[in-house]
Amino acid sequence: MKYFIGNWKMFGVSKSANIIKKIIDYVKKDKKKSNYKVVIAPPYTLLQNFSKNFNSKFLSICAQNCHFRDNFSSNTGSISAYMIKELGVQYLILGHSDNRSEGDDEKKLSLKVNNALNNKMKVIFCIGENKKQKKLKKTNLILKKQLSKVLKFKMKSDNIIVAYEPIWSIGTGFIPKEVELKNTTIFIKKTLKKIFKSKKTPHVLYGGSVDGGNIKELRRIKEIDGFLIGGASKSYKKFIDIIKNYYRN
Ligand code: PEP
Repeated sequence: MKYFIGNWKMFGVSKSANIIKKIIDYVKKDKKKSNYKVVIAPPYTLLQNFSKNFNSKFLSICAQNCHFRDNFSSNTGSISAYMIKELGVQYLILGHSDNRSEGDDEKKLSLKVNNALNNKMKVIFCIGENKKQKKLKKTNLILKKQLSKVLKFKMKSDNIIVAYEPIWSIGTGFIPKEVELKNTTIFIKKTLKKIFKSKKTPHVLYGGSVDGGNIKELRRIKEIDGFLIGGASKSYKKFIDIIKNYYRN
């Protein structure tokens, strides 16, 4: 099963439902649809509307973050995994570099991941090195630390998806070299196997400047279980092009 996950970040109002409708229309008619799963993460303001109207076997709705405290607490402007799950939202992105740069450290992320899993949600856990770390050849070291500080053996690995998003490739138009990305994906899977002490590891996605053009290159890397798509997911045409070109003969 491959994943195509759209992260809208701070984009979208009620009329953006049109984008979701077009994507669902495409998936419904696509002969390849049993091979993949589409997930869209709109901002909090649209979760209730979109979850009620669009959550289906053709598309799932996802939240982009939550507070590190669960249930109810005194945190102005925040929402918890429990509150998101109550809307019927199954998926939750955690550890995105946007949020790491605004204070999401490993301690908070551990709490968030645990809260999401306790609420029986599926976590899309983002990891990735920055440009300097890459230059210093510290990518594997950083990824191993990001994974092992937060993901633990006792967690339900079936409900965890890892998204490898090199920070230097997010929104820049640059993607890693094919051999590098293949090796990094293999390294992440090996690390997850060690953490969960099992042969079955979480799916590992790639994210960073994915579009309808470079997907033809990215699809050659069979170890990648899907994609986390930012910019291109705000246009139904660009998003659908990614799926189309992934499966094109
Ligand atoms: C993202 O922010 O998760 C992302 C992958 O963005 P983009 O596709 O625009 O690089």
